[in-house]
Amino acid sequence: MEYQNETKICQNCKKDFTIESEDFNFYEKIKVPPPTFCPECRNKRRMSWRNERTLYKRICDATQKNIITMFSPNEKLIVYDRDYWWKENFDALEYGQEIDFNKTFFIQFDELFRKVPLPSLLNENVVNSSFCNCVHNAKNCYLSVASMEVENVLYSTRVIGGKDSMDLFGGFNQEMCYENVVCDKSNHLFFSERSMECFDSMFLSDCKNLGNCLGCVNLRNVNY
Ligand SMILES: [Zn+2]
Repeated sequence: MEYQNETKICQNCKKDFTIESEDFNFYEKIKVPPPTFCPECRNKRRMSWRNERTLYKRICDATQKNIITMFSPNEKLIVYDRDYWWKENFDALEYGQEIDFNKTFFIQFDELFRKVPLPSLLNENVVNSSFCNCVHNAKNCYLSVASMEVENVLYSTRVIGGKDSMDLFGGFNQEMCYENVVCDKSNHLFFSERSMECFDSMFLSDCKNLGNCLGCVNLRNVNY
């Protein structure tokens, strides 16, 4: 079927948004109705299911210990201390429920979600890193999220392989680094973006294999 671009009003924020003709073909192909929310509101709804960095104090519903968790204490949920949750001292099958075809799916999903115990944080193999979430193999880290293989890394997001660094966004294998965005295999690199194999440098953008450089863009293989 031939579709035209259509402008709709978002039912959430009431702003206009356009659905492109080829999008209608895609919705038809995957058999879903066209959206009634604008792209930004749709994104917010998706992101609301992944709270990485807003942490709360709460009481563990199993051990009554004070815990740090990604679930607000105002939410009527059952939250267990992460270590207790993984011990599996409870039988998850106890929470099974029959599907009621007279009720909508999401009402039943909400009931199930509120009665099954949730782990306080999504961490794995962490040492002294209580204020981190969605991290794996982390030691002595603080307010870092969605990262792995990190040690002494503070206030960072989406870092894989990092040591003694702060305020990083993305990137791999950075040591003694600060304020970098998506940098790789670097040491003593500061305030830089999309650069790799650089050391003792600052304010680089799209650089590779530099040493002792300041304020460079698109430079390769230089060491002053
Ligand atoms: Zn909207």
